[in-house]
Amino acid sequence: MNNYDIFQFICREDNYGVLIADNNTGLTASIDAPDASAIDNELKKRDLKLTHLFITHKHADHTDGIDFLKKKYGCTVIGPDKEKNDIPCLDVTVIDEEYIDFSGSPVRVIETPGHTLGHIVYFFERENILFAGDTIFLMGCGRVFEGTHDQMFESMKKIKSLPNDTSIYCGHEYSLQNAKFAISIEPDNKLIEARMKDIERKTLQNIDCLPTNLEIELKTNPFLRYDEMSVRKILEMEKVSDKIIFSEIRKRKDNF
Ligand code: ZN
Ligand code: FE
Repeated sequence: MNNYDIFQFICREDNYGVLIADNNTGLTASIDAPDASAIDNELKKRDLKLTHLFITHKHADHTDGIDFLKKKYGCTVIGPDKEKNDIPCLDVTVIDEEYIDFSGSPVRVIETPGHTLGHIVYFFERENILFAGDTIFLMGCGRVFEGTHDQMFESMKKIKSLPNDTSIYCGHEYSLQNAKFAISIEPDNKLIEARMKDIERKTLQNIDCLPTNLEIELKTNPFLRYDEMSVRKILEMEKVSDKIIFSEIRKRKDNF
């Protein structure tokens, strides 16, 4: 298991830039490219050279910086095969359950359609680190722009099946809004309440709320809690399928 340094920093308004660096090999990857100069500054500050770019999906707030970073560092750009026509400078395209190597670590690619049809996440299987893009957020999930609620449900199910101690890095800092929504769904969930307080404090002090981990998400993220009887009771939908519960929660969030 490699001992990586991970650097996270806000880009644009509420996007996260994330670098993962192996001190021993000098390999450094950026997850997405929200903002070339913010990423470049972070690289300089840490005295790192970018060798890899892992792209999760085609949206501009994840791809705008690719061109500049590719030209400056000549890094290998990896991204979803299904969005290859919408993402510039791709060197390697990947599909569901394909593995790529980063500094000796097997990185599993998982397709998570919903937010966009070709969205992928990157799971460092040995280290249990997930780079989730806009699929899952702290107590939230991505807006379903291109896919169906059923597709997003299946994608969240895949994330739910990862090891409990998976660290999760996300594409955006939406924690405060998500916490308010989570409380509205489960007003009596003490863990959500405690998390909300922690998020309010961190937000005031300008501290990142991410990364999160799967264990706490399973207990507090409404989009992973479609199979909890307590949630079903609150929604007064005790006998419907998980999919329908998920879709109901997604609709409520859209109108929140
Ligand atoms: Zn997006
Ligand atoms: Fe985004």
